[in-house]
Amino acid sequence: MTLVRITALAGGIGGARFLRGLKAELAARGTPAEITVIGNTADDITLFGLRVCPDLDTVMYTLGGGIHEEQGWGRADETFTVKDELTAYGLEPQWFRLGDRDFATHIVRTQMLDAGYPLSQVTEALCARWQPGVRLIPMSDDPVESHVVIDDAQGRRAIHFQEWWVRMHASTPALSIVPIGADDAKPAPGVLEAIAEADVLLFPPSNPVVSIGTILAVPGIRDAVSTTGAPVVGVSPIIGGAPVRGMADACLTAIGVETSAGAVAQLYSGLIDGWLVDVADAGTEIDGVEVRALPLYMVDGPSTRVIAAAALDLAADLRPAGQSRASRQ
Ligand code: GDP
Ligand code: CA
Repeated sequence: MTLVRITALAGGIGGARFLRGLKAELAARGTPAEITVIGNTADDITLFGLRVCPDLDTVMYTLGGGIHEEQGWGRADETFTVKDELTAYGLEPQWFRLGDRDFATHIVRTQMLDAGYPLSQVTEALCARWQPGVRLIPMSDDPVESHVVIDDAQGRRAIHFQEWWVRMHASTPALSIVPIGADDAKPAPGVLEAIAEADVLLFPPSNPVVSIGTILAVPGIRDAVSTTGAPVVGVSPIIGGAPVRGMADACLTAIGVETSAGAVAQLYSGLIDGWLVDVADAGTEIDGVEVRALPLYMVDGPSTRVIAAAALDLAADLRPAGQSRASRQ
């Protein structure tokens, strides 16, 4: 069998869990595959002098067997001694929980960045330990950080996405969400090639605004997706008008998009050829996009594998690799 090149854009939990199902499904089929994951870095933040990349780490730990399963982020068997000690000194921010095991990852990353290595090489070095079984590339080596404009008792101001998400639980409406630095960021080495040369391109059920949206905001990436010869299939992160985990509805509202499986597909219009929705959203129709409905809750390994299988099958039915979207229409 020939090697299948699969490229996926991914945020944190939704992306990582889907990718784990994808790996399991490919292994069960005996399909030789090379998976490249383009990871979101717009959630990145510098805390206590350390560079933290939550989405890259969630993918790395989930696929490498180090994730805290129930939580979906951070390390299994974690302790918080360092964090408690920092808190005892009164050090801010106190709302972002970093575990002792996790700290080591951020120390290694920060040392390498300070020594001049680009984030893509740092990520490769961290993955040498975790062996996630995919090639994980950050969307860019240039720093991009989502900031959220809010207006509350303290006035109108922009705060880091993590402060809005983790500290405020997105309870104050976002007036806008801006990926600072994205306009000047370049795709990391290998990103555009992985999209252009893929046999299948996948959008896992990641946050459409602050995960997939920020990856697409790096100049060159959206064009690469819209012109790739590969079929592009997405999985809806919205089921029955609500996100499955987290507050993606607050992000969609901020950009004026309704929280529905159909509206997210519209947001990806011109990019996707196929869209998987939950059975609760059966009947969703989008011009030029083949929609299929099946249960989309990733409750365990087997249910997630079925979703990955449906994405691969839809891609295979859509169009042979090599035929671009433009030439098809
Ligand atoms: P984050 O960076 O950790 O927020 O993770 P992602 O951006 O990769 O994914 C977040 C999205 O995953 C949210 O919008 C959720 O609705 C979606 N999600 C989480 N679990 C599931 C699931 O079991 N099924 C589906 N369809 N979506 C899910
Ligand atoms: Ca994230």
